[in-house]
Amino acid sequence: MRGFFTRFAIAASGFALAVSYPVSAQDHAQAGWSLAIHGGAGTIARDSMTPEEDAAHRAALQAALDAGAKVLADGGSALDAIEAAILIMEDEPRFNAGKGAVYTWDATHELDASIMDGRTRDAGAVAGVTTVRNPILLARKVMTDSPHVMLSGKGAETFAAEQGIELVPPSYFDTEFRLKALERMKAKQLSALDVDLKFGTVGAVALDRHGNMAAGTSTGGMTGKRWGRVGDAPIIGAGTYADDRACAVSATGWGEFFIRVGVAHEICARLRMEKAVGAMSAADRIPTLVALDHHDGPEMPEVAIPEGAAQDIADAVMNDVKALGGDGGVIVVTPEGHALYSFNTAGMYRGRATSAGVNEVAIYGDE
Ligand code: ASP
Repeated sequence: MRGFFTRFAIAASGFALAVSYPVSAQDHAQAGWSLAIHGGAGTIARDSMTPEEDAAHRAALQAALDAGAKVLADGGSALDAIEAAILIMEDEPRFNAGKGAVYTWDATHELDASIMDGRTRDAGAVAGVTTVRNPILLARKVMTDSPHVMLSGKGAETFAAEQGIELVPPSYFDTEFRLKALERMKAKQLSALDVDLKFGTVGAVALDRHGNMAAGTSTGGMTGKRWGRVGDAPIIGAGTYADDRACAVSATGWGEFFIRVGVAHEICARLRMEKAVGAMSAADRIPTLVALDHHDGPEMPEVAIPEGAAQDIADAVMNDVKALGGDGGVIVVTPEGHALYSFNTAGMYRGRATSAGVNEVAIYGDE
């Protein structure tokens, strides 16, 4: 058995065996908090943005970051923090979520969102809603007030009405520049990537002072989508995942590839296995498959994953997306309080804040 589990751990982590992490909790957050947000990734270059656009995006990101950070600094929950941040970005027309969502092929809007609680691994998601002003609120209601994880279309709207979630006419989501993108796409037979140049999905991930994590993502999807297409944003494990034992992840990018790689869950799973391998080296005992699961297995020794190792894992998964032909990015927070980005596009609208004093927003890849 020892041989099997050793081989499993080696094969599963793939790259980590040589690394032995200290079991002291020096890298752990001391009741600290962290938050990361994104507003989409893509071909975002300095010369393609006016100074006004640049400043407006930064201001919008900062407002979202500040709203989430305040919740966390006051001792609030990771779930409340990500909701606060995402609400601001859903209401901001510059991002492809809520107001400002891209158009479908039929010039309508179909919105997707998901949320996950890393403490319980409860999750909620909605796909293809057309009248819900803030889909992230509906996703949370699915999680807390329904026996389901995902609702779609008309049924989701009926549930929203029953739950008293704010509904708006579909025209609320209209914006001139998104309509032009659809028209350009149709006229020149372009792909969504060509017309949008960037993904504008929004997301947030947080670790709160109680050690709990949460992740959420909200989007209008991709310009010109048809046939009820659903991307990764509302798929738990693809666009969103949170597990207090490992990390919280929210993604943006070409959804089909993120679904195929299972990006958000893949990053969390690799982090859990990294801990298992670290425990094996440090405590000289073999982690078993059940030891990856704190509920039933023997208690795992505390292993802190350094920031660089967590970054390597996120980068490796994003490289996998790229190898298949996809692009985009992720934001990640870990139990140690690291707040990371990884993206394989020119830029990503992003921000992070922590109790250790980090507070930044950024757009381009070189900043
Ligand atoms: N991931 C989203 C989707 O495929 C698009 C985006 O990130 O903007 O629906």
